[in-house]
Amino acid sequence: MVAADPLGLADGDTVVELHRQCERLAAVLVRAAAAFDAGRSWEADGARSSASWLAARCRTPVSATRRRVRLGRELRSMPAAETAWLAGDVGEAHVEPLAAVRRRVGGEVFDADEERLVEHARTMGHRAFGQVLAYWEQAADPDGVERDAEAQRDGRRVHLSESFGGTWLLDGVLDPISGEIVATALDRIGEELFKVEWAEHGRAVRSPAQRRADALVEMARRAGAAPAGGRLPAPLFTVFVGYETLAGRMCELAGGSVVPPGSLLPWLTEAYIERVVFDGPDRVMNVGVRRRFFEGATRRAVEVRDRECYSEFCDEPAGRCEIDHVQPYGEGGLTVDDNGRPACPHHHRRRDGPGGPAP
Ligand SMILES: [Zn+2]
Repeated sequence: MVAADPLGLADGDTVVELHRQCERLAAVLVRAAAAFDAGRSWEADGARSSASWLAARCRTPVSATRRRVRLGRELRSMPAAETAWLAGDVGEAHVEPLAAVRRRVGGEVFDADEERLVEHARTMGHRAFGQVLAYWEQAADPDGVERDAEAQRDGRRVHLSESFGGTWLLDGVLDPISGEIVATALDRIGEELFKVEWAEHGRAVRSPAQRRADALVEMARRAGAAPAGGRLPAPLFTVFVGYETLAGRMCELAGGSVVPPGSLLPWLTEAYIERVVFDGPDRVMNVGVRRRFFEGATRRAVEVRDRECYSEFCDEPAGRCEIDHVQPYGEGGLTVDDNGRPACPHHHRRRDGPGGPAP
Protein backbone atom coordinates (compact mmCIF):
# COMPACT_ATOMS: atom_id res chain seq x y z
CA MET A 1 0.00 0.00 0.00
CA VAL A 2 1.22 3.50 0.78
CA ALA A 3 4.88 3.93 1.72
CA ALA A 4 5.64 4.90 5.32
CA ASP A 5 7.20 8.16 4.20
CA PRO A 6 5.27 9.39 1.18
CA LEU A 7 7.68 12.31 0.80
CA GLY A 8 10.63 9.98 0.38
CA LEU A 9 11.35 8.20 -2.88
CA ALA A 10 7.98 6.92 -4.03
CA ASP A 11 7.35 4.52 -6.88
CA GLY A 12 4.61 5.02 -9.45
CA ASP A 13 2.21 2.60 -7.76
CA THR A 14 2.41 4.59 -4.53
CA VAL A 15 1.54 7.82 -6.31
CA VAL A 16 -1.35 6.11 -8.11
CA GLU A 17 -2.66 4.75 -4.81
CA LEU A 18 -2.37 8.19 -3.18
CA HIS A 19 -4.29 9.62 -6.12
CA ARG A 20 -7.11 7.09 -5.56
CA GLN A 21 -7.30 7.93 -1.88
CA CYS A 22 -7.36 11.67 -2.63
CA GLU A 23 -10.25 11.15 -5.05
CA ARG A 24 -12.20 9.16 -2.44
CA LEU A 25 -11.69 11.99 0.01
CA ALA A 26 -12.73 14.54 -2.62
CA ALA A 27 -15.99 12.60 -3.14
CA VAL A 28 -16.67 12.65 0.60
CA LEU A 29 -15.90 16.39 0.71
CA VAL A 30 -18.32 17.16 -2.11
CA ARG A 31 -21.06 15.09 -0.49
CA ALA A 32 -20.47 16.80 2.87
CA ALA A 33 -20.59 20.25 1.26
CA ALA A 34 -23.99 19.44 -0.28
CA ALA A 35 -25.28 18.10 3.04
CA PHE A 36 -24.07 21.25 4.80
CA ASP A 37 -25.87 23.30 2.14
CA ALA A 38 -29.12 21.38 2.68
CA GLY A 39 -28.89 21.71 6.49
CA ARG A 40 -28.97 25.52 6.16
CA SER A 41 -27.07 26.04 9.44
CA TRP A 42 -25.02 28.67 7.59
CA GLU A 43 -28.08 30.92 7.53
CA ALA A 44 -27.77 31.58 11.24
CA ASP A 45 -24.37 33.24 10.62
CA GLY A 46 -25.92 35.61 8.12
CA ALA A 47 -24.10 34.11 5.16
CA ARG A 48 -25.71 34.63 1.77
CA SER A 49 -25.15 30.99 0.80
CA SER A 50 -23.41 27.83 1.98
CA ALA A 51 -20.79 28.49 -0.70
CA SER A 52 -19.93 31.93 0.63
CA TRP A 53 -19.84 30.58 4.22
CA LEU A 54 -17.40 27.83 3.16
CA ALA A 55 -15.32 30.21 1.03
CA ALA A 56 -14.85 32.54 4.02
CA ARG A 57 -13.90 29.75 6.43
CA CYS A 58 -11.66 27.83 4.01
CA ARG A 59 -10.22 31.06 2.56
CA THR A 60 -10.86 29.83 -0.99
CA PRO A 61 -12.49 31.55 -3.97
CA VAL A 62 -16.28 31.40 -3.71
CA SER A 63 -16.41 30.07 -7.28
CA ALA A 64 -14.64 26.92 -6.07
CA THR A 65 -16.98 26.27 -3.13
CA ARG A 66 -20.02 27.03 -5.29
CA ARG A 67 -18.87 24.41 -7.80
CA ARG A 68 -18.30 21.91 -5.01
CA VAL A 69 -21.75 22.40 -3.46
CA ARG A 70 -23.43 22.13 -6.84
CA LEU A 71 -21.54 18.96 -7.76
CA GLY A 72 -22.49 17.42 -4.40
CA ARG A 73 -26.14 18.23 -5.06
CA GLU A 74 -25.96 16.73 -8.55
CA LEU A 75 -24.18 13.65 -7.27
CA ARG A 76 -27.37 12.65 -5.42
CA SER A 77 -29.00 11.99 -8.79
CA MET A 78 -25.99 10.12 -10.14
CA PRO A 79 -25.71 6.95 -8.03
CA ALA A 80 -23.30 5.07 -10.31
CA ALA A 81 -20.92 8.05 -10.51
CA GLU A 82 -21.12 8.53 -6.75
CA THR A 83 -20.29 4.90 -6.00
CA ALA A 84 -17.36 4.86 -8.44
CA TRP A 85 -15.97 8.16 -7.09
CA LEU A 86 -16.28 7.06 -3.46
CA ALA A 87 -14.37 3.91 -4.40
CA GLY A 88 -11.65 5.99 -6.07
CA ASP A 89 -12.30 4.33 -9.46
CA VAL A 90 -13.10 7.64 -11.11
CA GLY A 91 -12.23 11.22 -10.16
CA GLU A 92 -13.57 14.73 -10.24
CA ALA A 93 -12.20 15.02 -13.79
CA HIS A 94 -14.82 12.41 -14.79
CA VAL A 95 -17.72 13.32 -12.53
CA GLU A 96 -17.62 17.03 -13.34
CA PRO A 97 -18.10 16.54 -17.14
CA LEU A 98 -20.72 13.81 -16.50
CA ALA A 99 -22.68 16.23 -14.32
CA ALA A 100 -22.32 18.97 -16.92
CA VAL A 101 -23.74 16.70 -19.63
CA ARG A 102 -26.64 15.66 -17.35
CA ARG A 103 -27.37 19.34 -16.75
CA ARG A 104 -27.54 19.98 -20.50
CA VAL A 105 -29.54 16.97 -21.69
CA GLY A 106 -31.67 16.50 -18.56
CA GLY A 107 -31.97 13.61 -16.12
CA GLU A 108 -34.75 11.83 -17.99
CA VAL A 109 -32.33 11.18 -20.88
CA PHE A 110 -29.07 10.88 -18.93
CA ASP A 111 -30.09 8.56 -16.12
CA ALA A 112 -30.90 5.58 -18.33
CA ASP A 113 -27.32 5.56 -19.62
CA GLU A 114 -25.47 6.72 -16.51
CA GLU A 115 -24.10 3.31 -15.61
CA ARG A 116 -22.72 2.74 -19.09
CA LEU A 117 -21.05 6.17 -19.18
CA VAL A 118 -19.49 5.66 -15.74
CA GLU A 119 -18.16 2.31 -16.93
CA HIS A 120 -16.42 4.17 -19.79
CA ALA A 121 -15.00 6.66 -17.27
CA ARG A 122 -13.69 3.77 -15.22
CA THR A 123 -11.96 1.98 -18.07
CA MET A 124 -10.99 4.39 -20.86
CA GLY A 125 -8.20 6.94 -21.14
CA HIS A 126 -9.46 10.37 -20.12
CA ARG A 127 -9.28 11.83 -23.60
CA ALA A 128 -11.11 8.90 -25.18
CA PHE A 129 -13.72 9.12 -22.42
CA GLY A 130 -14.24 12.79 -23.27
CA GLN A 131 -14.85 11.85 -26.90
CA VAL A 132 -17.29 9.08 -26.02
CA LEU A 133 -19.18 11.48 -23.76
CA ALA A 134 -19.32 14.10 -26.53
CA TYR A 135 -20.66 11.53 -29.03
CA TRP A 136 -23.19 10.30 -26.50
CA GLU A 137 -24.41 13.87 -26.00
CA GLN A 138 -24.67 14.39 -29.77
CA ALA A 139 -26.87 11.32 -30.06
CA ALA A 140 -28.95 12.19 -26.98
CA ASP A 141 -29.52 15.83 -27.80
CA PRO A 142 -28.57 16.62 -31.41
CA ASP A 143 -30.34 19.99 -31.47
CA GLY A 144 -28.84 21.15 -28.20
CA VAL A 145 -25.35 20.24 -29.35
CA GLU A 146 -25.79 22.12 -32.64
CA ARG A 147 -27.10 25.14 -30.72
CA ASP A 148 -24.07 25.04 -28.41
CA ALA A 149 -21.77 24.87 -31.44
CA GLU A 150 -23.52 27.91 -32.87
CA ALA A 151 -23.08 29.76 -29.59
CA GLN A 152 -19.39 28.80 -29.58
CA ARG A 153 -19.06 30.18 -33.09
CA ASP A 154 -20.92 33.37 -32.13
CA GLY A 155 -18.49 33.79 -29.25
CA ARG A 156 -15.48 34.04 -31.56
CA ARG A 157 -13.35 37.12 -31.03
CA VAL A 158 -9.80 38.35 -31.40
CA HIS A 159 -8.34 41.39 -29.73
CA LEU A 160 -5.16 42.93 -31.03
CA SER A 161 -4.26 46.17 -29.33
CA GLU A 162 -1.20 48.35 -29.14
CA SER A 163 0.24 48.54 -25.66
CA PHE A 164 3.07 50.18 -23.73
CA GLY A 165 6.25 50.83 -25.61
CA GLY A 166 4.62 49.97 -28.92
CA THR A 167 4.28 46.23 -28.19
CA TRP A 168 1.06 44.49 -29.17
CA LEU A 169 -1.24 42.28 -27.13
CA LEU A 170 -3.07 39.49 -28.89
CA ASP A 171 -5.74 37.30 -27.39
CA GLY A 172 -8.94 35.70 -28.50
CA VAL A 173 -11.33 32.77 -28.62
CA LEU A 174 -12.05 30.63 -31.70
CA ASP A 175 -14.66 27.95 -32.30
CA PRO A 176 -13.22 24.41 -32.72
CA ILE A 177 -13.09 24.41 -36.51
CA SER A 178 -11.69 27.94 -36.89
CA GLY A 179 -9.15 27.13 -34.17
CA GLU A 180 -8.12 23.95 -35.96
CA ILE A 181 -7.63 25.89 -39.22
CA VAL A 182 -5.42 28.51 -37.56
CA ALA A 183 -3.49 25.95 -35.51
CA THR A 184 -2.89 23.78 -38.59
CA ALA A 185 -1.53 26.74 -40.56
CA LEU A 186 0.67 27.92 -37.66
CA ASP A 187 1.98 24.38 -37.11
CA ARG A 188 2.77 23.99 -40.79
CA ILE A 189 4.68 27.28 -40.96
CA GLY A 190 6.31 26.67 -37.56
CA GLU A 191 7.57 23.33 -38.83
CA GLU A 192 9.13 25.06 -41.88
CA LEU A 193 10.79 27.66 -39.67
CA PHE A 194 12.13 24.92 -37.42
CA LYS A 195 13.69 23.08 -40.36
CA VAL A 196 15.46 26.26 -41.52
CA GLU A 197 16.62 26.95 -37.97
CA TRP A 198 17.94 23.42 -37.61
CA ALA A 199 19.75 23.56 -40.96
CA GLU A 200 21.42 26.86 -40.02
CA HIS A 201 22.32 26.27 -36.37
CA GLY A 202 22.10 22.52 -35.83
CA ARG A 203 19.83 23.17 -32.83
CA ALA A 204 16.70 25.07 -31.85
CA VAL A 205 17.49 28.73 -31.15
CA ARG A 206 13.91 29.95 -30.63
CA SER A 207 11.49 28.81 -27.95
CA PRO A 208 8.30 27.17 -29.26
CA ALA A 209 6.37 30.32 -28.26
CA GLN A 210 8.81 32.55 -30.16
CA ARG A 211 8.54 30.30 -33.20
CA ARG A 212 4.74 30.44 -33.04
CA ALA A 213 4.92 34.25 -32.93
CA ASP A 214 7.21 34.25 -35.97
CA ALA A 215 4.88 31.80 -37.74
CA LEU A 216 1.96 34.18 -37.17
CA VAL A 217 3.90 37.07 -38.70
CA GLU A 218 4.99 34.85 -41.58
CA MET A 219 1.34 33.89 -42.13
CA ALA A 220 0.44 37.61 -42.39
CA ARG A 221 3.37 38.22 -44.73
CA ARG A 222 2.28 35.39 -47.02
CA ALA A 223 -1.32 36.63 -46.99
CA GLY A 224 -0.01 39.94 -48.35
CA ALA A 225 2.04 38.15 -51.01
CA ALA A 226 -0.71 35.76 -52.14
CA PRO A 227 -2.53 36.75 -55.34
CA ALA A 228 -6.18 37.77 -54.88
CA GLY A 229 -8.48 34.83 -55.58
CA GLY A 230 -5.54 32.41 -55.40
CA ARG A 231 -6.14 28.77 -54.50
CA LEU A 232 -6.51 28.02 -50.82
CA PRO A 233 -4.04 25.50 -49.46
CA ALA A 234 -5.63 22.13 -48.85
CA PRO A 235 -6.62 20.71 -46.50
CA LEU A 236 -7.65 23.68 -44.35
CA PHE A 237 -8.68 21.28 -41.63
CA THR A 238 -9.28 17.57 -41.37
CA VAL A 239 -12.43 16.05 -39.99
CA PHE A 240 -13.18 12.36 -39.64
CA VAL A 241 -16.79 11.52 -40.38
CA GLY A 242 -17.85 7.90 -40.02
CA TYR A 243 -20.66 5.69 -41.14
CA GLU A 244 -22.60 5.06 -37.98
CA THR A 245 -23.02 1.42 -38.89
CA LEU A 246 -19.28 0.80 -38.70
CA ALA A 247 -17.64 2.32 -35.67
CA GLY A 248 -20.52 4.15 -34.12
CA ARG A 249 -20.90 7.83 -34.74
CA MET A 250 -17.75 9.64 -35.71
CA CYS A 251 -17.30 13.33 -36.38
CA GLU A 252 -14.07 14.71 -35.02
CA LEU A 253 -11.27 17.05 -35.98
CA ALA A 254 -7.77 15.71 -36.54
CA GLY A 255 -6.80 17.15 -33.14
CA GLY A 256 -9.41 14.92 -31.49
CA SER A 257 -12.16 17.46 -30.70
CA VAL A 258 -15.59 16.03 -31.30
CA VAL A 259 -17.75 18.46 -33.28
CA PRO A 260 -21.46 18.26 -34.21
CA PRO A 261 -22.05 17.58 -37.93
CA GLY A 262 -23.99 20.85 -38.38
CA SER A 263 -20.92 22.90 -37.51
CA LEU A 264 -19.26 21.59 -40.69
CA LEU A 265 -21.96 22.95 -43.00
CA PRO A 266 -20.67 26.54 -43.34
CA TRP A 267 -17.31 25.15 -44.49
CA LEU A 268 -18.61 22.72 -47.08
CA THR A 269 -18.80 25.27 -49.91
CA GLU A 270 -15.02 25.56 -49.92
CA ALA A 271 -14.15 22.15 -48.55
CA TYR A 272 -12.24 19.60 -50.47
CA ILE A 273 -13.43 16.21 -49.45
CA GLU A 274 -11.21 13.22 -49.11
CA ARG A 275 -12.74 9.79 -48.76
CA VAL A 276 -11.14 7.10 -46.70
CA VAL A 277 -12.79 3.70 -46.76
CA PHE A 278 -12.80 1.59 -43.63
CA ASP A 279 -13.58 -2.09 -44.03
CA GLY A 280 -13.94 -2.55 -40.27
CA PRO A 281 -13.90 -0.33 -37.21
CA ASP A 282 -10.14 0.16 -37.24
CA ARG A 283 -8.94 -1.13 -40.55
CA VAL A 284 -8.41 1.13 -43.51
CA MET A 285 -8.54 -0.59 -46.91
CA ASN A 286 -5.39 0.28 -48.68
CA VAL A 287 -2.79 -1.19 -50.98
CA GLY A 288 0.71 -1.19 -49.56
CA VAL A 289 3.91 -1.03 -51.57
CA ARG A 290 7.57 -1.64 -50.82
CA ARG A 291 8.75 1.85 -49.94
CA ARG A 292 11.11 3.21 -47.30
CA PHE A 293 8.79 5.88 -45.93
CA PHE A 294 5.11 6.10 -45.24
CA GLU A 295 3.76 8.62 -47.72
CA GLY A 296 0.58 9.59 -49.48
CA ALA A 297 -2.38 7.26 -49.10
CA THR A 298 -0.56 4.74 -46.89
CA ARG A 299 0.46 7.47 -44.45
CA ARG A 300 -3.06 8.86 -44.52
CA ALA A 301 -4.52 5.41 -43.84
CA VAL A 302 -2.45 5.02 -40.66
CA GLU A 303 -3.25 8.59 -39.58
CA VAL A 304 -7.00 8.24 -39.86
CA ARG A 305 -7.04 4.79 -38.30
CA ASP A 306 -4.94 5.51 -35.21
CA ARG A 307 -5.33 9.30 -34.98
CA GLU A 308 -2.70 9.68 -32.25
CA CYS A 309 0.80 8.61 -31.19
CA TYR A 310 1.07 4.87 -30.50
CA SER A 311 2.39 5.33 -26.97
CA GLU A 312 -0.22 4.76 -24.27
CA PHE A 313 1.32 7.72 -22.41
CA CYS A 314 0.88 10.15 -25.28
CA ASP A 315 -1.99 11.69 -27.23
CA GLU A 316 -0.13 13.76 -29.81
CA PRO A 317 -2.37 13.94 -32.93
CA ALA A 318 -1.19 11.75 -35.81
CA GLY A 319 -0.81 14.80 -38.06
CA ARG A 320 2.14 15.87 -35.92
CA CYS A 321 3.66 12.37 -35.86
CA GLU A 322 6.04 10.41 -38.03
CA ILE A 323 4.74 7.05 -39.20
CA ASP A 324 6.96 4.34 -37.73
CA HIS A 325 7.41 0.77 -38.91
CA VAL A 326 6.12 -1.58 -36.18
CA GLN A 327 8.43 -4.29 -37.50
CA PRO A 328 11.51 -2.30 -38.53
CA TYR A 329 12.10 -1.77 -42.24
CA GLY A 330 15.64 -3.09 -41.86
CA GLU A 331 14.23 -6.40 -40.62
CA GLY A 332 11.95 -6.76 -43.59
CA GLY A 333 9.00 -4.79 -42.20
CA LEU A 334 6.71 -3.66 -44.98
CA THR A 335 5.61 -0.10 -45.59
CA VAL A 336 1.93 -1.01 -45.39
CA ASP A 337 -0.69 0.39 -43.07
CA ASP A 338 -0.83 -2.81 -41.00
CA ASN A 339 2.84 -2.30 -40.13
CA GLY A 340 2.61 1.44 -39.52
CA ARG A 341 1.87 3.46 -36.41
CA PRO A 342 2.07 7.17 -35.64
CA ALA A 343 4.96 8.16 -33.38
CA CYS A 344 5.42 11.73 -32.14
CA PRO A 345 8.99 13.13 -32.37
CA HIS A 346 9.61 12.11 -28.74
CA HIS A 347 8.47 8.51 -29.13
CA HIS A 348 10.01 8.24 -32.60
CA ARG A 349 13.41 9.15 -31.10
CA ARG A 350 12.86 6.92 -28.08
CA ARG A 351 12.97 3.88 -30.27
CA ASP A 352 16.71 4.39 -30.61
CA GLY A 353 17.23 4.81 -26.89
CA PRO A 354 16.37 2.79 -23.78
CA GLY A 355 12.91 1.28 -23.69
CA GLY A 356 12.48 0.77 -27.41
CA PRO A 357 13.66 -1.72 -29.99
CA ALA A 358 16.14 -0.68 -32.64
CA PRO A 359 14.53 1.15 -35.61
ZN1 LIG B 1 4.20 10.22 -28.40
